[in-house]
Amino acid sequence: EVSAEGDTLGACSAVLHEVFGYTAFRGAQADIVTHVSDGGDAVVLMPTGGGKSLCYQVPAIVRQQRGRGVTIVVSPLIALMHDQVGALHEAGVDAAFLNSTLDFDAAQDVEWRLQTGQITLLYAAPERLTTPRFLGLLDNLYAQGMLSLFAIDEAHCVSQWGHDFRPEYRALSVLHERFAGVPRIALTATADELTQSDIVERLQLQDARRFVSSFDRPNIRYTIVEKKEPLVQLLRFIEREHAGEAGVVYCQSRRRVEETAAALCDAGLTALPYHAGLPAETRQLHQDRFLREDGIVMVATIAFGMGIDKPDVRFVAHVDMPKNIEGYYQETGRAGRDGLAADAWMAYGLQDVVQQRRMIDESPAPDAFKQGLRGKLDALLALAEATDCRRVRLLAYFGEVYGAGPEGDGVPRMACGNCDNCLNPPAVWDGTDAARKLLSTIFRAHEASGLTYGAGHILDIVRGKETDKVRQFGHERLSTFGLGAQYSEAQLRGVLRQLLATGALGLHTVVTEQGHSFDTLCLTEGSRGVLRGAVPVHLREASASPSARRTRRTS
Ligand code: ADP
Ligand code: ZN
Repeated sequence: EVSAEGDTLGACSAVLHEVFGYTAFRGAQADIVTHVSDGGDAVVLMPTGGGKSLCYQVPAIVRQQRGRGVTIVVSPLIALMHDQVGALHEAGVDAAFLNSTLDFDAAQDVEWRLQTGQITLLYAAPERLTTPRFLGLLDNLYAQGMLSLFAIDEAHCVSQWGHDFRPEYRALSVLHERFAGVPRIALTATADELTQSDIVERLQLQDARRFVSSFDRPNIRYTIVEKKEPLVQLLRFIEREHAGEAGVVYCQSRRRVEETAAALCDAGLTALPYHAGLPAETRQLHQDRFLREDGIVMVATIAFGMGIDKPDVRFVAHVDMPKNIEGYYQETGRAGRDGLAADAWMAYGLQDVVQQRRMIDESPAPDAFKQGLRGKLDALLALAEATDCRRVRLLAYFGEVYGAGPEGDGVPRMACGNCDNCLNPPAVWDGTDAARKLLSTIFRAHEASGLTYGAGHILDIVRGKETDKVRQFGHERLSTFGLGAQYSEAQLRGVLRQLLATGALGLHTVVTEQGHSFDTLCLTEGSRGVLRGAVPVHLREASASPSARRTRRTS
């Protein structure tokens, strides 16, 4: 049903000015709103903060003016629904939502207004939308030609490859089948190839026009540091770069959230914890304070942030590594939505690799799925280990060539000038020899006893430390004992981390008689190339940053 009706761009611009009070469309918005207002299907990939909402709100109003009825917005986020409907009301737009927070009477009222054509935008949770009752209401509207448009927000939720898979989204294929001819626009800020093709396939959007914006966030400076004492490093980062400013610190576990928030408070910062284990009122209170007050640091699990529109978040820090690049990009993307300079800072270490690998290994998922997760983790590890431009790599992951993307000048660039590696090119050392010594030690120790050992013990052997455990196993007699004495422990840990990150080294979980489990190192298929010296290992020089000098280890 793509049909131009008069001056669609003019009608859209009028709505933009008169209803929303903005002067101009941004980026691809103008193309998107005209295409959708004229009844075209669209898949919109736009980074967080890019302005996705207007892409369906403007067409909804324009189409309503043209007598086409109501736009249904599918959104998984109740908080976001409330915010958007509130904002639309202020702009004088008839908007409403239907979700589990409404009582029976209120829901009835919305349904009545819907049937009598008094609503321009209706927000609904996916599980609500696909109930027989609601589908029946839509059938009526459809029969009268008063079902104008479906907007599917956070469309990556349909994909199991996304970081936020929601099974209810799968049922949305009903829209296409039952309401043929009603235009649909799917929107997401997640854009890796796998998720993209999943969205198109699952929602049957093969013929939709795709609008891909650049995923670059030029105002965000990316920094990834080696994790030593994460709390000390984090505090130093905040005090030096962002004293008194708002930020989010992401942690992997609830316990870590609590510890980190307490440590920041002890240091005199206003830090609030946020995780699923806190009572709903506490979470709400902390979120409200974060949005309203200045200079609050939210310490959170990934439960926090979806749909939080706070423009002046000056930094996002990760003290634990996320699961994949999508997660990293999404979470760091909450910084600097106002376009002003912001920081994405992450501390990452050997333990992160071990932990993430283990979570995948121990999950009950089928093998093929686990393999997919490993691939995604590996891509993030490669980003963390990179010695060249982080932005170039990040965008490449989303299929974008930096400088040659939709908003670039067509000239690919290899450096951005606004990430740690561009600003302070790291010195690189050749870790091939150290890697071979480590791998052959792991091999020999296993050969001698049939056992596998943890990283600490292997490092002791390579560095020639005669610990009790070394003597107990007679490992001081291994031919590789002390062969790596010239390397520091930090250097060797760096090598192990990279070997794990690239799959040249594997983990084997050992469970003791007492039921404790711990991770040990074992060789893999990928070890062979490194052992033979055929695969070089390049590492960043154990950082000589000020934080490294001050927190010098004594081991
Ligand atoms: P997204 O959903 O892509 O993260 P939003 O739709 O929430 O982004 O928009 C982000 C911010 O940018 C909002 O504050 C919105 O009002 C603002 N915005 C979007 N488009 C425009 C525009 N054309 N002109 C001015 N501000 C805009
Ligand atoms: Zn760079």
